[in-house]
Amino acid sequence: MRTIVFATANPNKVREVGASLGPGFSILSLPDIGCTEEIAETGLTLEENALIKARYVKQHFGYDCFSEDTGLEIQALDGAPGVYTARFAGPDCTPDDNINLTLKKMQGMTTRAARFRTIIALISGGQETLFEGIINGQIATEPSGSGGFGYDPIFIPEGHFTTFAEMPLEAKKKISHRGRAVAKLMDFLKV
Ligand code: IMP
Repeated sequence: MRTIVFATANPNKVREVGASLGPGFSILSLPDIGCTEEIAETGLTLEENALIKARYVKQHFGYDCFSEDTGLEIQALDGAPGVYTARFAGPDCTPDDNINLTLKKMQGMTTRAARFRTIIALISGGQETLFEGIINGQIATEPSGSGGFGYDPIFIPEGHFTTFAEMPLEAKKKISHRGRAVAKLMDFLKV
């Protein structure tokens, strides 16, 4: 049995990845290893932030580890909010605040191309490896749907006519940025 830490406090994410990897792997969360401190995400890129978290766990707790960081990159806003996706509208903002700010900044814009990008950083066997997952799409002109989280009500994935928030979770998972990055991680770990 191989033990790897997933540098997140979110038990749903751990369960999901653990189920995909199967019985040969034991996936531990940050609370599982007694890491309760907030790891400051001070990087200027998704790659840097993912590595900061994975390196922190390796250095302080000794475990092989992977971590993920996700950003929404809007072409007409020069790639913003990018690394600031979670706190676009301020340090204590809600998902609705972020959606409203995005729609305000894009008012009247006809070029609405955007993408979600997830980076997973793995530290295993003394080696650092990055995995990327991308879903291209468009920013809607108004929110639709009640599923999902974050920016889902205003993101329409390429090849679809509904937002992520209007899609069944299983359908979103198959095409999502996170799903694609996790699939690459799985392939790598299972080899
Ligand atoms: P994290 O790196 O997974 O914590 O994601 C950072 C931020 O990106 C979140 O706070 C959300 O606002 C946004 N985000 C990440 N993944 C998604 C998604 O699948 N749908 C909508 N928003 C997302």
